Amino acid sequence: MTSHGVLVIGGGIAGVSAALALTERDVPVTLVERDAQLGGQASSVCCKAVAGRCQQCGGCLYAGQLQACADQTRIDIQLTTTVTSCNPSEGGFRYTLCTLDGSLEGTASAVILATGFDHVNARTKGAFGYGLLPAIISGDELERRLSEAGQAAFDTDEPRQVAFIQCVGSRDEQAGRGWCSQVCCRYGVRLARLLKARSPNTVVTVFRMDIQHCGRDSQAFDLAQKEDITFVTGLPAQIQRAGAHNEQVLLQYDDIHAGQYTSLLADLVVLSTGIQPRADAAATADLFGLERNAFGFMASAADDVRTAVPGIYLAGCCQAPRSIADSIAHARRAAAACLQDLQEQPA
Ligand SMILES: Cc1cc2nc3c(=O)[nH]c(=O)nc-3n(C[C@H](O)[C@H](O)[C@H](O)COP(=O)(O)OP(=O)(O)OC[C@H]3O[C@@H](n4cnc5c(N)ncnc54)[C@H](O)[C@@H]3O)c2cc1C
Ligand code: SF4
Ligand code: SF4
Repeated sequence: MTSHGVLVIGGGIAGVSAALALTERDVPVTLVERDAQLGGQASSVCCKAVAGRCQQCGGCLYAGQLQACADQTRIDIQLTTTVTSCNPSEGGFRYTLCTLDGSLEGTASAVILATGFDHVNARTKGAFGYGLLPAIISGDELERRLSEAGQAAFDTDEPRQVAFIQCVGSRDEQAGRGWCSQVCCRYGVRLARLLKARSPNTVVTVFRMDIQHCGRDSQAFDLAQKEDITFVTGLPAQIQRAGAHNEQVLLQYDDIHAGQYTSLLADLVVLSTGIQPRADAAATADLFGLERNAFGFMASAADDVRTAVPGIYLAGCCQAPRSIADSIAHARRAAAACLQDLQEQPA
């Protein structure tokens, strides 16, 4: 039996940030991560600096947090571990962990759930041909390939047409996906700038409904427009194979502002996929007695970090789509709410 202050579930940037915020206030933490390492999805976000100039994409924010977490002796990190039960007990919770070595029981005063999200599967937008045509890749694939192979991975001196299609799998009420994923304008515009800067003979077109930009995202958007990146208002209805060996694709679209139906022959299409609830979100919600909202994310209650179950809090993208910086801020708010409630509990 282990007894630790707060149980944090999920070792992505949100869980790690919540754990660090708690230990800053001397509260011991057990941090449970199902994978063999900490970091979650933020670890595959690439650096989008253009010619050495930071684009403030937030991609490197997680490294410092991970190191601080690894150095923090008051965080008991349990990797390759999941929670198999968690029930209210004596003003707190009694839980069981499933580890590589067997099961482990413990108690906690409170629980912070930071179980994150799944990438939108671009195959769900069948008309875009993802998985069938080699010229079509998803946003998370582009992030991962640039992150693993370096910024030169897509360099070419040849003339080339690259198209980004925004909102793929998000803001689609008909498919029951009415939410905005928040991050795909951020990374899409910055990656468009990066590809254009590294290969000046590349012509870049971004198809969008609108662009979510405020604060530091506005600068990237303004610069993109000055750099001859074309923004078309309207999303292609269909993509067809083209070229002698299907190496290109033809995008057909209604250019709302230009007032005409037209087409573009592209060598590379990036589907700007976003964030959706994890496939096991329903099972996780059941385990902790939580509800989910209309979109399937964990439901918050009085504010965006507390839940309907006293003592259980939410951090990061398990509650709603967020950037890395916003996930860190949300996790710190979850930790602050947790500490406030613990202090207000009768002794
Ligand atoms: C294509 C794409 C590109 C992006 N690019 C950017 C960008 O450029 N800049 C930016 O700021 N943000 C970007 N983001 C957003 C960024 O990835 C998220 O903000 C961040 O990963 C959220 O962290 P999280 O901890 O909430 O979730 P996650 O990263 O999903 O972490 C959750 C963790 O919980 C673990 N877990 C899940 N369930 C359990 C369980 N039951 N038990 C134990 N562990 C569990 C998972 O293994 C994982 O490690 C991008 C997102 C996408 C989809
Ligand atoms: S914020 Fe983004 S662009 Fe800037 S250095 Fe970090 S990863 Fe690179
Ligand atoms: S962030 Fe941009 S691309 Fe992503 S769903 Fe929202 S509007 Fe669409």
